[in-house]
Amino acid sequence: MVRKKIVAGNWKMNKSYDEGIALVEQLLDELDMDKVGETHVIISPPSVLLQPITELLMFTPGIAVAAQNCHQEESGAYTGEISARMIKSIDADAVILGHSERREYFKEDDSLIAKKMKAVLANELMVIYCCGESFEERKTGNHIAVVEKQLRTALADFSTKDAENIIVAYEPVWAIGTGEVATVQQAGEMHTHIRKVLADIFGDTSQNMSILYGGSVKPDNAAELFAHPDIDGGLIGGASLKSNDFMSIIYALSK
Ligand code: PEP
Repeated sequence: MVRKKIVAGNWKMNKSYDEGIALVEQLLDELDMDKVGETHVIISPPSVLLQPITELLMFTPGIAVAAQNCHQEESGAYTGEISARMIKSIDADAVILGHSERREYFKEDDSLIAKKMKAVLANELMVIYCCGESFEERKTGNHIAVVEKQLRTALADFSTKDAENIIVAYEPVWAIGTGEVATVQQAGEMHTHIRKVLADIFGDTSQNMSILYGGSVKPDNAAELFAHPDIDGGLIGGASLKSNDFMSIIYALSK
């Protein structure tokens, strides 16, 4: 297995039904799949758009669909939640887990995220596992230790077989939605460390695991970040809501 190059767009809580469909239709019209080449594209819309977008992309194998979260249980009295089994039942491909907004606003921690990850993998979906330090943690020089702890807590109970379906996204919290991107040196240092931790947990399989950078990736900084050998692509928030910006970022990885 070769390590995949991936650009994933996290729409967060943006786009109405019609706006979301229009954005995907524009991408389908304009994205040059020959130029995309080996790069895998993932779109992560809000829950109400998961099914129609999965259907729209049915004949475009280069573009996968991810949910932004799920509940750890398969079904039950959890008003407002959706399960991994439901996401699988509409043929979506992946689930983002542990995004910093879920950690901050919904108080999710790595032991809960690990339970969700179990549910996602049991349903034969991919996981995009997000980790990253706060501004305070970087300022005090604890960023490497913080991210290592997140990884070890969330991933400790998974097998090398599971690891084949886990994508890691390093997203420094201070860079998400702020316009303040990590430098290649900052991101690269962390990605190299993450790869070491993954090697410690999963052995050789870690070489095949994609590690994405997320945090204010834009068309004008993507190529420089993606040139680092341990940065295998990006998790894109704001810029994934504009088709031209998203396409430029995809092409920056495909080069
Ligand atoms: C994100 O939400 O995962 C993200 C990286 O957002 P942005 O690109 O807007 O910083």
